[in-house]
Amino acid sequence: MILSFSDLFKTINKEETHTVEIEMTSIKSRLGDFPIRKKEPVTLTLKNIENDKISIKGEVKLTLDIPCSRCLETVPTAIECSIDKELKIDNGSAVDEDMETTDYLIGFNLDVDKLVYAEILVNWPMKVLCKNDCKGICKVCGTNLNIRECDCQRTELDPRMAAIQDVFNKFKEV
Ligand SMILES: [Zn+2]
Ligand SMILES: [Zn+2]
Repeated sequence: MILSFSDLFKTINKEETHTVEIEMTSIKSRLGDFPIRKKEPVTLTLKNIENDKISIKGEVKLTLDIPCSRCLETVPTAIECSIDKELKIDNGSAVDEDMETTDYLIGFNLDVDKLVYAEILVNWPMKVLCKNDCKGICKVCGTNLNIRECDCQRTELDPRMAAIQDVFNKFKEV
C-alpha cells in the first residue's frame, strides 16, 4: 500500500496514524525466497515536524519460514522490529539520509511493503537453528542426523583440527 505525505505536509506538527496490511507473501532476497507464514498489520504513525521533517514510527511483526543453518529443515522464525525514521524534506520530496535503499520513497509517497522489506533485511537473524543442539546433516550421505544416525565413517578429528573445523562451520552457517 502507498501512503501519501502530501496532506500531512500542509499542517505543521500534524500527526496521522495508519494501520496497513502487508501485501507481500514472501521476502525475496539474494539469500533466497522466504515465505511469510504469519503477519500482523503495521501501524505507522507519521508526523510533520516543523514542516521540514517527517517522522515515521511503527512496529513490524511477522513470521518467516527460514531453513535451519545446519539441517535445512524449515523453521518458522518470528522477526520483530521497530521502524523509527526521520525524513528530511528536500526540493519537494522526502529524503531518507540513513538508508542506502530508499526505493520505498517516491516524492511524498511511501510504499509500506518496500519499507517493511528493507527493515526486515536490516534485522535479519544472524543464525537460525531448529533447536540449539541440532545435529545437522551427515556430510557424507546427507542424512538428517536429528532423525536417524547413519553408518558413514565421519572421521573424528584431533582437538586442534576440531577447533579449525569449528571456525569453518561458523563461516558456513552465516
Ligand atoms: Zn536443524
Ligand atoms: Zn551419512
